[in-house]
Amino acid sequence: MWRDGRLRNGYCRDCRYCCGPQDNPEPFPMAILPSQMRPGLDEDFHLLAGDVACLDDRGCKACGHRGCRLTRSKRPVACELFPLVLANGGLYLYKTCPAAVFAPLADTIGIGHEAAAWLSGFSPAELRHIALNLPAQKLAERYVYLDIAVAYPA
Ligand code: SF4
Ligand code: SF4
Repeated sequence: MWRDGRLRNGYCRDCRYCCGPQDNPEPFPMAILPSQMRPGLDEDFHLLAGDVACLDDRGCKACGHRGCRLTRSKRPVACELFPLVLANGGLYLYKTCPAAVFAPLADTIGIGHEAAAWLSGFSPAELRHIALNLPAQKLAERYVYLDIAVAYPA
């Protein structure tokens, strides 16, 4: 369900895949908003760039024994959305998530519309910063398009 500006997924407690070591060394970028920039960012995240954290086969540095040790305001926007992903001008569902397998797609699409409404509160520049730009083949292999467009015009 979507609540208080984040996706709550009943599978996460048992799964915990997202924050831990991924089965793929390819980094998943998680952009940090300008308002979230702070000293010591590299203590919380593996960084792809100064303002882009990432998740890969090393897991996330912010993941502790009891889950994420960061307050929500310090987490990348991607963490609030997952297993939904903002990419290529729309919302996608990450196929690896158990929710993609077991939850009815219609329910997920409903959550996606709530997430899109939440994202409309971000500026186009912020949305461009956090959105992924993925090749069509990777989108098809790893994601399900929810047919929900999110505009972030230049
Ligand atoms: S893969 Fe899905 S169920 Fe697992 S931790 Fe991530 S969002 Fe939660
Ligand atoms: S910042 Fe927190 S919620 Fe996001 S991937 Fe890292 S441990 Fe998980």
